[in-house]
Amino acid sequence: MHPNKRSVTTAGLEIKSVVGRLPSLAARLVRETLLLVFPPMCAGCSRVLDSEESPLFCPDCFSALDLISEPYCPLCGIPFVAEITTSHLCGDCLGGVYTFDRARAKGSYQGLIREVIHRFKYGGQTFLMRPLARMLIGPAKELSRLHRIDTIVPVPLHYKRLRQRGFNQASLLARGLGSLLQIPVDYSSLKRTRWTEPQTGLSRNQRAANVKGAFALKSKAKIRGKGVLLLDDVLTTGETVNQCVRVLKDGGVREVVVLTVARTVAG
Ligand SMILES: [Zn+2]
Ligand SMILES: [Zn+2]
Repeated sequence: MHPNKRSVTTAGLEIKSVVGRLPSLAARLVRETLLLVFPPMCAGCSRVLDSEESPLFCPDCFSALDLISEPYCPLCGIPFVAEITTSHLCGDCLGGVYTFDRARAKGSYQGLIREVIHRFKYGGQTFLMRPLARMLIGPAKELSRLHRIDTIVPVPLHYKRLRQRGFNQASLLARGLGSLLQIPVDYSSLKRTRWTEPQTGLSRNQRAANVKGAFALKSKAKIRGKGVLLLDDVLTTGETVNQCVRVLKDGGVREVVVLTVARTVAG
């Protein structure tokens, strides 16, 4: 072997190994600089948090969250007020109100969780996507133990609403959760084809009528046979997700589980 060739190869390997380390070094540098400039803050009270291991809420705010814990309905996840030892379905699930295969929410739609969702959705604080997506990891893992999840589908917004708001909160949450759990996100198969008035203040029947026929599948081939995790920020009566689930299942989707940051809890 030519003596120079060896040194050239060795130098090449050294350069290669340095270049190979560059992205991680650069990423670390960028991350550490960002932490100095933008230290992690509590999503509730904006207090600067001590370490990056707790990027969600400070202990005070965390204890003020109405997180849903057992006992809850095994199908729709609504918490039961009374301590119940036997597993049973809630009245809505016994009455066949929902079309999904299972649903979970991280918290009740009240207090601080409601406030944080409002700031995220209407206050332009889109950086809350990250802490909110992290809150979904626990219930998403519970759903994935019970169901096959191939893809995350965010509940779509009508293009006019998207233009008003500038972003779809469900798509942002799907992107965050998808990257945290390494699950692909399907942003395009499910479409909102009809403009609907906000569901706030409507009864269950009015809500059902309001969203009937509002969704359609753009492409059945992409999603047929898959297990879908349908993602939204809030579940109220479930009529919006019911419509989405019907459309997905008519298109040959195998099963649909629903995950939301919060849900309304009657009473
Ligand atoms: Zn706080
Ligand atoms: Zn239920």
